[in-house]
Amino acid sequence: MAISDDDIERLRDTVSLVDVVQSYLPLRRVGRNWVGLCPFHAEKSGSFNVREETKRYRCFGCGAAGDVFKFVQEIEHLDFVGSIEHLANKVGMQLTYTSGGQSKDRQRRKQLVEVMNTAVEWYHDQLLHSPDARTARDYLRDRGLSGDVARQFKIGWAPDDWDAMSKAIDVPIDLLQEVGLGFINKRGRPQDSFRARVMFPIFTDAGEPVAFGGRVLPGSTDPAKYKNSSETTIYAKSKTLYGLNWAKQDIVAADEVIVCEGYTDVIGFHRSGITRAVATCGTALTEEHVRLLKRFANKVVLAFDADNAGQGAAERFYAWESKYKVQVSVAKFPDGKDPGDLASSNPLALAEAVKGAQPFLGFRLQRVIGAGSIATPEARSRTAEQAMAVINEHPDMNVRKIYAGEVASHVGIAAADLVRLAERGVRRPEVRVAAPTQSGGSRESAEFVVLALMIQDWDTIAAWMSEALFANDVYRRAFLALAAVEGDLNPALAAADPEAREALERAAVADVESQPDAEAFNLISAAVRRELAHRVKHVDPEQIRIDRDARLLLEQLEDSTISQDAAEQLLGWLRMRMGEQR
Ligand code: ZN
Repeated sequence: MAISDDDIERLRDTVSLVDVVQSYLPLRRVGRNWVGLCPFHAEKSGSFNVREETKRYRCFGCGAAGDVFKFVQEIEHLDFVGSIEHLANKVGMQLTYTSGGQSKDRQRRKQLVEVMNTAVEWYHDQLLHSPDARTARDYLRDRGLSGDVARQFKIGWAPDDWDAMSKAIDVPIDLLQEVGLGFINKRGRPQDSFRARVMFPIFTDAGEPVAFGGRVLPGSTDPAKYKNSSETTIYAKSKTLYGLNWAKQDIVAADEVIVCEGYTDVIGFHRSGITRAVATCGTALTEEHVRLLKRFANKVVLAFDADNAGQGAAERFYAWESKYKVQVSVAKFPDGKDPGDLASSNPLALAEAVKGAQPFLGFRLQRVIGAGSIATPEARSRTAEQAMAVINEHPDMNVRKIYAGEVASHVGIAAADLVRLAERGVRRPEVRVAAPTQSGGSRESAEFVVLALMIQDWDTIAAWMSEALFANDVYRRAFLALAAVEGDLNPALAAADPEAREALERAAVADVESQPDAEAFNLISAAVRRELAHRVKHVDPEQIRIDRDARLLLEQLEDSTISQDAAEQLLGWLRMRMGEQR
């Protein structure tokens, strides 16, 4: 069943994006935009922009963007069809369901998920019933993964054969290839991608199977202990977390998610009654993962060997903590044990490790202090220095000071001296930007050229124009007079004040030959640089980040393939800034 495309378009025309967003968060009008606090990341100043004309929203803080359906999907945790039904229900619109009419992509996706479903069931059936899965069953039983556990997690077995699966299930090879389960071998015959492996199916948070992780049995000659599905049209590693489909309700209830490294760790937590665990699928934790998890919980407990997490990882975690307002902590397990082992040998230790999870900085600091000696004055000094290096990675001054106090009492150096070390570690935000020419001469003429282009060809350039772009007050007033009548010169002349009228008269007869887009982008770029230079005293990290994004967009403005999008975002950024000043 699908919803007719006509209905989807009718609904898009009917609902007001601003109204829909405003039913979740307050917005205020800034020029042609509406601005508010982003619902998808934590922030103190609004970088969430909504534009009714384009019916799109965009957050300059976290990059969330889309149309009304995307917004409802994200905020209500719904899929596309769910978002349409939700909106139709709100405005009282009757939907027409059709058997066809689905978009091609959605149909293809559904077909691929069905292939995956068939494969999940087939592998699972092999594990439960096939005689040659006995070794696999024995292995899983030893690890506590048999019976009900195997059934709950749909664990399977890929036989030790070239093509057992592709022969057994009635699915064309091109589909198997597209989901990463099969390929055509050198002899032109269909071959299975997984062989002699215990199969852990990976589902989306909505419960659709999209990939597999396959593990060899002990004693295998295959050097790859784990083999994971490659990325496909339905599977992106950086956006998928194993176990989220089973765990999400409990994650929301506890406002906490446990992130493991392996499939068996997730299952181990479940077996121990801790049902809010997920795992990355053969990758490090990514920002996409954090964004996904933030939809469900504010606390993230890392349940993997974080001993090797270096400075780079620490900086990433701290950045995510401030960007998404999540608290990242680390659970410490008895040496050498992973959660999967502990679930069998000492399930209570699992719960204790999670309960005693430490903030990431505390965890790193304890390791440094634990390894450092305080036997001699020289050793104390060295340990203090190493500890302060770790502390200085943290962006929050107060946090640095508190940890410095702990180090002080450990090494016996006055806290004030260490705090001075901590303060030296403050990284000053980059605020140097190219300042606009102060003479104003070239800028004024650029503004004049744009004014002339607006009179010549309003439709091409109008979309890029905003009051915010004019530093020269006379040209700004001339622009406003022109904009009020949509570029119609005579009424603009009649309405303008004498100075603005004089500028319009000159512009109307000026002989300019320029690309409207290029000139508009020049003005946008100049206005953004002006605004950035004007606001160098910002210390709010949120603001610093937004400004950094604006600088990145300035670079993109130079690149003709993405300049339009960058210009649109920068205009929104400017309008937001101008709105704040009022
Ligand atoms: Zn945001």
